[in-house]
Amino acid sequence: MKKTRIEGYTEKVELKMLDCKSCGAGYVLYDSRDRKRIASLPSNEREVYYFNVATHSKLENQPCHCGKGTFVLSHDKWEKYHKGYTIVTCDCGSKVECHDFTNTCCTCGADYNLTGTRLAPREFWENDDADDERWKTF
Ligand SMILES: [Zn+2]
Ligand SMILES: [Zn+2]
Repeated sequence: MKKTRIEGYTEKVELKMLDCKSCGAGYVLYDSRDRKRIASLPSNEREVYYFNVATHSKLENQPCHCGKGTFVLSHDKWEKYHKGYTIVTCDCGSKVECHDFTNTCCTCGADYNLTGTRLAPREFWENDDADDERWKTF
């Protein structure tokens, strides 16, 4: 396992969503941060994703199920500065970018924390809410 530290960078984020201003229910139509994840999905799952986006797009200006509002489109762009992150070369050979509290290798399922430390396998976590368990390392 090898760790590489990437220094700070600025990410341009683009987010399109439909949401009800009354109850806050909403659907994400596009999030540039998801691009990589979506591209890596198997084609059948990617089709389902695009089908859902197309279905949700039709809700623009339609009444929400809360009965008090309509779905309104918002399209925001902003820049987000990241202090840096760690890329781990997993034992299985895949690269895992550690941006989150828990980062999972999409090839073998190994979990790493933000600093690229390997976490105990999930069967040793007491439950998903027991965050302390996630920090047990080996
Ligand atoms: Zn609503
Ligand atoms: Zn792996």
